Amino acid sequence: MKEFLKDKVFELISEAADEQQQECYVIGGFVRDIFLKRPSKDIDVVVVGSGIELAERVAKKLGKKAKITVFKNFGTAQVKLNELEVEFVGARKESYQRDSRKPIVENGTLEDDQNRRDFTINALALCLNKDRFGELIDPFGGLEDLKNFVIRTPLSPDITFSDDPLRMMRGIRFAAQLNFFLEINTFEAIERNKARIEIISKERIVDELNKIMQSRKPSVGFILLEKTGLLELIFPELLALKGAETKDGVGHKDNFYHTLAVLDNLCQHTDKLWLRWSALLHDIGKPRTKKFDSRLGWTFHNHNFVGEKMIPEIFRRMKLPTNEKMKYVQKMVTLHMRPIVLSEDEVTDSAIRRLLFDAGDDIDDLMKLCEADITSKNPDKVKKFRSNFQLVRQKLKEIEEKDRVRNFQPPVSGQEIMETFHLPASAIVGDIKMRIKDAILDGIIPNEYDAARVYMFKVAKELGLQ
Ligand code: ATP
Repeated sequence: MKEFLKDKVFELISEAADEQQQECYVIGGFVRDIFLKRPSKDIDVVVVGSGIELAERVAKKLGKKAKITVFKNFGTAQVKLNELEVEFVGARKESYQRDSRKPIVENGTLEDDQNRRDFTINALALCLNKDRFGELIDPFGGLEDLKNFVIRTPLSPDITFSDDPLRMMRGIRFAAQLNFFLEINTFEAIERNKARIEIISKERIVDELNKIMQSRKPSVGFILLEKTGLLELIFPELLALKGAETKDGVGHKDNFYHTLAVLDNLCQHTDKLWLRWSALLHDIGKPRTKKFDSRLGWTFHNHNFVGEKMIPEIFRRMKLPTNEKMKYVQKMVTLHMRPIVLSEDEVTDSAIRRLLFDAGDDIDDLMKLCEADITSKNPDKVKKFRSNFQLVRQKLKEIEEKDRVRNFQPPVSGQEIMETFHLPASAIVGDIKMRIKDAILDGIIPNEYDAARVYMFKVAKELGLQ
């Protein structure tokens, strides 16, 4: 394994550890990622002794180019060298109490330290001492699990998960990020211990959810969350989408799996986290709006508006940001059907202008979401939608170039209306402004000052102001 430890920093750590006459290992994610060929800049070093002393010795050897930060309370130290971050810690043994994921920590051996790791693939260690440099210590068959794409706990999964229930989320997150399987005992232990998730803070849960969302195929994570029963506890609104009912021989699609298909589709075209959240939530209002009508079959009227209204509560509860990011997700959810409805009808300039006006700079994101929403299994239907979409895109481009309504600012201000007609601030001013805006969006007048002012007089006359 020496070839993976070529960086000069490993040589210096090796020297320093030998000088201190202490066993020293690089461990955890960095070693796992060597085998997965995923480049990693975070290096965790475990020493059977004092992590801080070793870090100080290494920093001295590195000289001015290194920056050391000591965390006395945790007994750890970090050495930063260019873009590399090396974390030094003494090997530790942990024991847990039932009501907390904060363990009682004692000094321990490498074996103790590996025992407290969450998964076999995260417990791999490479020795850094000179006489054993590059030797792999893999007591739980982590390498084999890496080869077989398996997530498995090193010790009894019931104990591992009950001690620190965050590990259940981490396991599912690793399965999604790496596209691995949860080994059956590990999976079943999550099912058994799922209720323990209640001692984990919302922030940590959402952190893991966001990592699932940022993976290449987030559906892997959400399906595991559903199958283990965790989803019900952390995100019941999403679970409510599951199931396909049939009445009088008429069925509807399972909106949970549809949502995940949309999310996976979208992830092939964007890394934007909040656009991905918009896909996850685009149909969240469907269960609350579902109705069966003997004539129309299943309907979900206004599910986009109901979904939009549900989002603040979901974001607050899950400790997601309730700022402009949430507003963006709400906007996407509200508008998510607009381009598709457009593409079904004749695409009029007026409808395109209104869409551009409502979506503003987020129009390209909205189009991506909407295209990802085409999950029909009927190839003819998909083909038709896609070509209509091409038409919508082309029209969007033409109209934007011509009318610039994407970031529409009314050419005549409320102030000007008030001064011209000697009006106080009142509803009638808003009414005139809105009629001018509608005239522009409907293509009755161009998006220009002179035309808008002439139109303002016309409206005023109709309203009896002149
Ligand atoms: P990533 O950087 O993608 O999150 P990582 O494996 O490097 O992956 P870290 O959170 O940086 O994850 O943790 C580093 C190592 O510490 C892990 O590989 C694992 O060995 C151990 N570890 C982290 N969190 C836990 C935990 N909750 N329980 C047990 N071991 C953990």
